Amino acid sequence: MNWIEKIEDNFSLIKKIVFVTGAGISHESGIPTFRGKDGLWRNHDAMKLATIDAFNENPQFVWEWYNERRKNIFESFPNKGHQAIAELQELFDVVVLTQNVDGLHKKAGSRNVYELHGDIITLRCTNCDFIEENFSEFSEFPPKCRCGSILRPNVVWFGESLPQQVWRNSIIHASESDLMIIVGTSLVVSPANTLPLIAKENGSILMEINPEKTEMSAEMDFSIQEKSAKFLPEFVNELKKIKSRK
Ligand code: NAD
Ligand code: ZN
Repeated sequence: MNWIEKIEDNFSLIKKIVFVTGAGISHESGIPTFRGKDGLWRNHDAMKLATIDAFNENPQFVWEWYNERRKNIFESFPNKGHQAIAELQELFDVVVLTQNVDGLHKKAGSRNVYELHGDIITLRCTNCDFIEENFSEFSEFPPKCRCGSILRPNVVWFGESLPQQVWRNSIIHASESDLMIIVGTSLVVSPANTLPLIAKENGSILMEINPEKTEMSAEMDFSIQEKSAKFLPEFVNELKKIKSRK
């Protein structure tokens, strides 16, 4: 049975669609992935750039790298993949659990977005609770908080916990999903990579969209080797056609 037949057969049961997305969905918006072909970690040492120890040791160096990434992200736009997901919320209860820090799902108009790894746009104080929203230009470098401490990118670095409330809600949404679509993630980063298993244990259909096989492809009901900006619009059209037949 192919994915279209499976969805058609189960259509009346599919109320909630949960997307788990990663860097791959933004690749066609011009944002490099971490581990894919031409991924950032191919040329950079993650431990020197994306840990609190690296930041404490050399905030200037880490900020320079983050500023490059922020500049790239500020200049980028949602692609047809992000847009297709946003369009689907007119037909279903759609939730997006994203590992991305680029804000492109929200820019595309998705309403229920949970950013598991924070966002690269805002800044957070290393000392107090202060969060600087929509900060694009620094008057001093590295940027400082009103309390005098250094501000850091508001992302989750290796070894850090996910924002608690976001993670709790993500588990609930994963367990309530009827169809989970995993897009553009290598599924090697924990605990985000446990979400498909949580969904599966609760009877959800699992579908993966990634031009390459991942370590969890074997767990999927359907593993589709395509690029998301091409596949997702076709997927949404197919769902619309199925709906019109019902
Ligand atoms: P990853 O780099 O580990 O994996 C990216 C995956 O996307 C690969 O499996 C690759 O085959 C696939 N891919 C590449 N092009 C694709 C396309 N056009 N369509 C669909 N899939 C495609 O990324 P990850 O699993 O998200 O890694 C986790 C970490 O990377 C997260 O912590 C996240 O914060 C961070 N990250 C985020 C961004 C962003 O916000 N855009 C960019 C780079 C890294
Ligand atoms: Zn502060």
